[in-house]
Amino acid sequence: MELRFLGGAGEVGRSAILVDDSLLLDFGLLTAEPPQYPVATPTPDAVVVSHGHLDHVGAIPSLLSGSNRPPIHWTPPTRELALTLARDTLKLHGHSPHCPFTENDVKRVTEVSETHGYRETFAAAGYEVTFYNAGHIPGSAHVHVDDGETRLLYTGDFHVDEPSPDEPPAGFDAGDLPAGQRLVAGSTARPDADVVLCESTYSDVAHDPRATVEHRFEQSVKTTLWEGGTVVVPAFAIGRTQELLMVCEAHDIPCYVDGMGKEVTEMLRRHPEFVRNADALRRAKSHARFVTGRDGQRERIADQPAAIVTTSGMLSGGPAMTYIPEIRANPVNKVTLTGYQVEGTPGRELLETGRAEIDGRVMPVSARVEGYDFSAHADHDGLRRFLDAYDDAEILVNHGDRCGEFAAALRDDGYDASAPALGATYSV
Ligand SMILES: [Zn+2]
Repeated sequence: MELRFLGGAGEVGRSAILVDDSLLLDFGLLTAEPPQYPVATPTPDAVVVSHGHLDHVGAIPSLLSGSNRPPIHWTPPTRELALTLARDTLKLHGHSPHCPFTENDVKRVTEVSETHGYRETFAAAGYEVTFYNAGHIPGSAHVHVDDGETRLLYTGDFHVDEPSPDEPPAGFDAGDLPAGQRLVAGSTARPDADVVLCESTYSDVAHDPRATVEHRFEQSVKTTLWEGGTVVVPAFAIGRTQELLMVCEAHDIPCYVDGMGKEVTEMLRRHPEFVRNADALRRAKSHARFVTGRDGQRERIADQPAAIVTTSGMLSGGPAMTYIPEIRANPVNKVTLTGYQVEGTPGRELLETGRAEIDGRVMPVSARVEGYDFSAHADHDGLRRFLDAYDDAEILVNHGDRCGEFAAALRDDGYDASAPALGATYSV
C-alpha cells in the first residue's frame, strides 16, 4: 500500500491522503486569506471522508469539476455537513478566483454520494472500508481500509472519554458527570490494523477534566447573569454550538443560539443514532431560544441576562460581530471563548490584548474575556491510551503542529513511528 500526503502532514488543515493513486481519504481546506488547498488535485476512483469539518471536507466539490465522477463515501451527518459547508464557501468566496468549485460541482456531490453507518463494511476502489465512531463530532469516523494484505486505520480527528475519577469533582453528582463530550460518546473501537495514521492536534496538551471545565464555565456565566450582565459565547457551528447548548441545558443557564449552528442543530436532530444522547440533545434544542435576527432582535437580546451561543468561534464573522460591539462597553458583561483561537484571528487578539477588530475598526472591550477548553480532540493521554492498542502497528503521525516530536516520543517508547512530510509518498 502506498500513501501520498497531499495535505495535513505536519500541519492542521487541508487533510488529504491518497492511497495507491486510487482511494482518496479526505480533501479539506485550510482557512487562511486566501484559503489553501491540498498540494495536488488527484483523480481518484473513490473518495472516503472521515468527518464534516472544513479541514477534512472543504475542497471535496472541486474533485468533480472536471469529468471525473468518483463515488464519495461518508456517514449521513458528514454528507449533510459537507454540503452545508460547501454552500457557505460559495457564499463567502464564490465570486473570487480562489474558490475552486462552482454551484454545479456542489450539485454533483449529491449525485455521487453514498452514505454508510458505523461498522458496515463497503467496497470502495477495490478496498474493503469500514467506519467506526471517532467520538469527535456527530458522524465522525475512524476509517479502516483493507486491501487484503495491509490493514490501514486512518483515525481522522477523534476524542476519547476520560477514565472515571475516584470522586466526582465539585458541582457534580456521580450520575451526571460528563466523562467527555455530551454531544458524542468517545471512540472505543480498536479494530486490528497494521498501519495507524493518527492525528496529533493536542499531542503536547493535557486537557483539564471535562467536569472541571464545565463547572468553571457554569459558575462564571451564572455570576454574570446574577449581576444582570450578558454573556456572548462564540462557538463553532459544527459540534461546539450543540455541545454548549447541552451544557446550558444541563446547568439551567438561559440561552439563545444564533448563526450557522442553528441549522446544524436542526440537522442533527434528524440523525439521533449519531449522538450520545438524542433525548438530551432534544431537551437542549427546546431549552435554547433560536434567534432570527429580524427587527433588531440581536440588539435587544444583547441587553438581557442570558448566554448567547453564536458563530463564529474565533470572531472572524457571523452574528458574534453584532453582539460584541453591543455588549463590549459594560464591564459586567462577558465573552467566553470556547475553543482554540488561531493566531491572527480577532478571537486570539481579544484574548491577548482585550481589543477586537470588528469590521475594520479596533474596539476596546471592557467586558471580561475568558477562554474555555471544550476540546473535541484527544489530548496527550487520550492519544496514548488509544495507541496502547496498536503497539505492534506502524504509526504515522499527522494533523498537528508537532508531528515530528510526537513520533519521536513514540519511538522512545518502542513504537515504529514516523511523521510523513507534506507531499511525501510512503510505502507501508
Ligand atoms: Zn475535525
